Amino acid sequence: MFWKRKDLIANVIEDKCQNCEHCIRICRRRVLMTSMVNGKMATFVNRPDKCTGCGKCAMFCPEKAIELIERYA
Ligand code: SF4
Ligand code: SF4
Repeated sequence: MFWKRKDLIANVIEDKCQNCEHCIRICRRRVLMTSMVNGKMATFVNRPDKCTGCGKCAMFCPEKAIELIERYA
């Protein structure tokens, strides 16, 4: 069961991420994307307005590379 926490938002921890794109397939709201950034591949939150803070991406990331952070910190 996944919750909606509008005060939280997903954040990809760059050092841990392997760009496997599993989180992109998991997130129904198409928040995340993988693309070339400054000459190297990176996965990041592309649509922060769409993230519900449900935590599904973090739960299924095999590298534990997604954390939920305070949206308004
Ligand atoms: S599932 Fe984890 S390791 Fe894979 S692209 Fe997403 S954040 Fe990176
Ligand atoms: S927390 Fe939920 S809505 Fe936000 S990116 Fe992850 S799976 Fe998508």
